[in-house]
Amino acid sequence: MSDHDPILIAGGGIGGLTAALALRLHGFPVEVYERRPDRDIESGGTGQTIYSNATTALSRLGLAEGLKTCGVVVTRAESRTERDTLLFQTDLREYEWPGSHPSMAVRRGGLCRVLMDACERAGVTVHLDSPCAGYTDHGDNVTLHLKDGRQVTGALLVGADGIGSAIRAQLIDDGGPVPLGITSYRGISPDSGGLPDGTIYLFRGLDAKVAGGAWPIGPEETSWSVSTYAPPGQHEKDRARMKARALDLLTGVNGPPRPVVEGTPLDAVIRTDIMVRRWSDTWVRGRVALLGDSAHAMPTELGQGACQAIEDAVVLAEQVADHADPAAALLAYQRLRMPRVRWVHDRVYRMRRVKPAKNAVVRRIVDALAKRIVAKAQPKMWRELLKPPPMRDLSQPRTGDVRTG
Ligand SMILES: Cc1cc2nc3c(=O)[nH]c(=O)nc-3n(C[C@H](O)[C@H](O)[C@H](O)COP(=O)(O)OP(=O)(O)OC[C@H]3O[C@@H](n4cnc5c(N)ncnc54)[C@H](O)[C@@H]3O)c2cc1C
Repeated sequence: MSDHDPILIAGGGIGGLTAALALRLHGFPVEVYERRPDRDIESGGTGQTIYSNATTALSRLGLAEGLKTCGVVVTRAESRTERDTLLFQTDLREYEWPGSHPSMAVRRGGLCRVLMDACERAGVTVHLDSPCAGYTDHGDNVTLHLKDGRQVTGALLVGADGIGSAIRAQLIDDGGPVPLGITSYRGISPDSGGLPDGTIYLFRGLDAKVAGGAWPIGPEETSWSVSTYAPPGQHEKDRARMKARALDLLTGVNGPPRPVVEGTPLDAVIRTDIMVRRWSDTWVRGRVALLGDSAHAMPTELGQGACQAIEDAVVLAEQVADHADPAAALLAYQRLRMPRVRWVHDRVYRMRRVKPAKNAVVRRIVDALAKRIVAKAQPKMWRELLKPPPMRDLSQPRTGDVRTG
């Protein structure tokens, strides 16, 4: 790696900021280029589950205390019918690896803030209002082109610019994000609907038209989602109509979701069309690598998108630290990460194939069968899912100068 050239990161979301922090803690100079004009990620709120595999990675970057400020520990996931009947439950603690950090439910914007603060403390430069357009790989370094005409040169470029990645468009050029035909109404409510702390509550409607969940993310903060089939882009004109539609979809659904949604202030309601990327076996070319959603955006079934972006980030940083040749480091990153992400991706698509029956009698039979299958498959799947990525513990402050490769 040429002396003093920084590692460039396109995109300052969860994956990009985690990569920036991990690389910086390994001693590299890092610059992040983020298109958002503001530090904060969103005004309306969304909550996400960051499972033990990813919270452990974050805690090894010194963020264990920071995580407490943006979320709560989750210990239990429950799947229920629309009548609030328990189908299966998972005690997450049973599957967490020794020495792991517990799984957490966090405010997405809160986690980004914790990452941003840690990056700045560590000496990462985050350039806001800096949308990236593309790059030129010169072989011995790489130039990032910004939309406003600026050009910056670095040792490596990490494309962490999310599902609509400009870096992916150049590196793979396989079209844009693909809509799943599902839309998700989401929000954060002061009303928990009676849900105990530490519980992720998931439900699926009898007619298969609605599914969703609710999970506390802090004192008087419960995140929720209500998803249904809908073509992309047909959003209601305002948040009042979004909330009304979410409640309409909950007709016939018993249990906590309704009071949780009812109690949500309008400014905390959002709607997101769910999109994915086609699977690609290429995430790396020369001195450029993709990471997180830009590499492998997947459906939300297992709540692992951000978790896998975090895993990508710490593994990429380890490989860059362990290889003298940057291109070899990126190929090693791809080789290590691809089987793991493919495994998660395949589990998500397998779950998507299970559709609840429309008829109540058939549904009871399907549910009974599903219970048996899940009881058998669940321990192995959760154990594998919650396996933390291989990485050094970088949580203790280090002395020494910035590395130059
Ligand atoms: C409804 C829903 C629920 C989800 N729930 C969960 C969950 O519970 N748990 C979980 O782990 N995952 C969940 N996910 C997935 C998760 O949100 C994503 O996988 C995760 O945010 C990916 O992180 P990322 O850093 O790769 O991309 P992003 O978080 O999208 O970050 C990309 C960043 O790049 C910036 N950017 C974009 N284009 C450019 C450009 N041209 N130049 C510069 N910057 C740019 C963006 O502004 C953004 O800051 C969910 C997703 C959805 C839609």
